[in-house]
Amino acid sequence: MISHVLPTYNRAPLAFERGEGSWAITADGTRYLDLGAGIAVNVLGHANPDLVAALTGQAGRIWHVSNLYQIPEQERLADLLVDRTFADTVFFTNSGTEAAEMAIKMVRKFWDHAGDPERIEILTFEGAFHGRSTGAIAASGAEKMVKGFGPLMPGFRTLPWGDLEALEGAISDRTAAVMIEPVQGEGGIRPLPDAELKRIRELCDRTGALLVLDEVQCGMGRTGRLFAHEYAGITPDLMMVAKGIGGGFPLGAVLASEAAARPMVAGTHGSTYGGNPLACAVGARVMEIVADDAFLAEVNRKGALFRQKLEGLVAAHPEVFEAVRGQGLMLGLKCKVAPVDLVKAGYAQHILTVPAADNTLRLLPPLNIEDADIAEAVRRLDRAAAELDA
Ligand SMILES: *Cc1c(COP(=O)(O)O)cnc(C)c1O
Repeated sequence: MISHVLPTYNRAPLAFERGEGSWAITADGTRYLDLGAGIAVNVLGHANPDLVAALTGQAGRIWHVSNLYQIPEQERLADLLVDRTFADTVFFTNSGTEAAEMAIKMVRKFWDHAGDPERIEILTFEGAFHGRSTGAIAASGAEKMVKGFGPLMPGFRTLPWGDLEALEGAISDRTAAVMIEPVQGEGGIRPLPDAELKRIRELCDRTGALLVLDEVQCGMGRTGRLFAHEYAGITPDLMMVAKGIGGGFPLGAVLASEAAARPMVAGTHGSTYGGNPLACAVGARVMEIVADDAFLAEVNRKGALFRQKLEGLVAAHPEVFEAVRGQGLMLGLKCKVAPVDLVKAGYAQHILTVPAADNTLRLLPPLNIEDADIAEAVRRLDRAAAELDA
């Protein structure tokens, strides 16, 4: 008989009752070191006192009002995002998928408004993940996500990852947009070199195509900059954000330049929950803490410390690991074994990690993880790897 919860996930036999910082705790008090952080969501760890105060403070005032009215908490979060980024304007969603879906709609609306409604082709990349809506799976093109869900929404063309020549051959003044993650997350922690992102920006400038960045996973301080594209010194026209921005409260956003956003007038898009006071009160507190140079410098320092220790781990288990990759606290261990086997061996050592494509194990701890917990994580990963060595 089917489970009451639709079984679309292969769930581990683990349930957590509470959390403290980088630790998730089961009902019997067993503490698991959480290097998944809800897949790059809990950027400030579990039960962070600042976020609990922001949430409960807002919960006692007003939870939800419709976007038919002014929402000061939403305006405040938009101000914080616009102040710190390329964006001139922000639309709030409840998830990364909805942000991707809206970005796709904005690209289409942009060219329709420019008098060129046939200009719909969006170039995307192998290994990409933009969510699970009909538009987002078409954008990814991955067989396992699209099989059985056709016909797919038209207007996407998937190019090989990291192949500038393929992109140069494909892009033209008929291209509507290029959509790309500066660091692929689900695809296996694959950072795009800065020079390639710069070149993509140039190709977009030359052809007029919009540059749409998906920073749902790599954004919000994860790589040691507030947004990963800052390393390349370029700016996009549209950007999707989610995961870390709510620190665990469901929240997403599309950030846009004024030029890209101009056709989105009243009535063109909407969301019942998107940007409600509860979500935005938490999001604003996350932004205040994360979009701070001293905080981001710490993410970089911790990332470097973690990486150095992981290099040692790779050297100690050459049969299990191949290499470390990633940036800041968005780290991946390229494996020679199946990453799910490591994830399972990790459960026995009370450490939570996340598998990804390209045979990669993802390590996405809270951005405020303590140095001692980084050292402890590497000890536990060492024991998990030793299980697979044998
Ligand atoms: C997780 C993710 C999404 C989808 O976000 P949801 O909140 O799960 O809808 C989109 N893009 C990237 C890069 C992601 O990592």
